[in-house]
Amino acid sequence: MTKNWSAATLLAQALGEVESEFGGIVPPIHVATTYIRSPDNSYPRGVAYGRDDNPTVSAPERVLARIENGEEALLFSSGMAAATAVFEALPFGAHIVVPRVMYWGLRKWLLDRHAVGRFRLDFADLHVAGALERVLRPQITALVWIETPSNPMWRVTDIKVIAEAVHEAGGLLAVDSTAATPLLTRPLDYGADIVMHSATKYLNGHSDVIAGALIFKRADHLFHSVKSYRHDVGPILGHFEAWLLLRGMRTLHLRVAKSCENALALATKFENHECIAEVLYPGLPKHPEHFLAGEQMSGHFGGMLSIRVVGGENAAIAVAGKVKLWKRATSLGGVESLIEHRASIEGPTTPVPADLLRLSAGIEDLDDLIADLDQALNAH
Ligand SMILES: *Cc1c(COP(=O)(O)O)cnc(C)c1O
Repeated sequence: MTKNWSAATLLAQALGEVESEFGGIVPPIHVATTYIRSPDNSYPRGVAYGRDDNPTVSAPERVLARIENGEEALLFSSGMAAATAVFEALPFGAHIVVPRVMYWGLRKWLLDRHAVGRFRLDFADLHVAGALERVLRPQITALVWIETPSNPMWRVTDIKVIAEAVHEAGGLLAVDSTAATPLLTRPLDYGADIVMHSATKYLNGHSDVIAGALIFKRADHLFHSVKSYRHDVGPILGHFEAWLLLRGMRTLHLRVAKSCENALALATKFENHECIAEVLYPGLPKHPEHFLAGEQMSGHFGGMLSIRVVGGENAAIAVAGKVKLWKRATSLGGVESLIEHRASIEGPTTPVPADLLRLSAGIEDLDDLIADLDQALNAH
């Protein structure tokens, strides 16, 4: 019956599942770390031990697999735990390709692993024609990782085009779709093999859970390798966090819609402000991938934008210092609007401009957000 339900309905009702013992329309939190064996030595309910699996974790996994159109989903104790699990499932010395601008924590981890020989790593500027083809090694490259829209410059990458090139070379494509959410882009439908989300961000949406998700197009060898890595090492999401995550996901469609609406209005409003050198947002017609973004992001452009402040690094930090409503904090995708001087967090090796402030548009009243940012820009 859930076959024809839209994503909004699937999310609001968490697939419409009803708890079997008492008929609760919200699932209980299963705290057991271990489960009873049958006299015949089997586990007829499919769960044996909490490091491997937990029914409270499986519930949001089913929702994610469904709304991303994948066969399987796995939840992890953080977005980084999810992302690194994909790489850890690859053989020693595997060749991987990642974008130049990407989530800084993952770039740092990959560089560290590369330095000790775990991977052979190439960077590609995916917005330069032919750059990916130059580093792809046919029948050798194991995995290409992309992020779209990418943090914190919000460039958009054409998943379909990249997937074709990667598959032709015999590799797999993984997409960090944290900023797009499953509502704006479904990377598996464009040919990706794996989708990753920092569920800490939009999926949970209330800045109170650290979590990560992987959704697999097929229940194939790679899926089983990642699942067995999670079983062996134990970075599974905790049961209480999984329960909060499912609760947060029930309103994902409403929160994302409002964040997108606020972000577009903010980008448009501040595009020509005298204290702003540039607004980076896919929804602006002058954005280099504006047309692609419109197609690939279901007519929306996300809740994330960045501004480059006239006067450089000190001016940017001063503007962030003057906000009263916006919260000066890292992270994104929560109900509250956040502002952050990005280079301060990424350190001296960052490719991010020093005058850049990253803005995560929350769900507050738009006029309040505009007024506060405007006074901070004019007061710095
Ligand atoms: C936050 C984030 C991550 C890392 O997720 P954690 O949950 O903090 O571990 C990865 N990718 C993107 C795009 C992010 O925003």
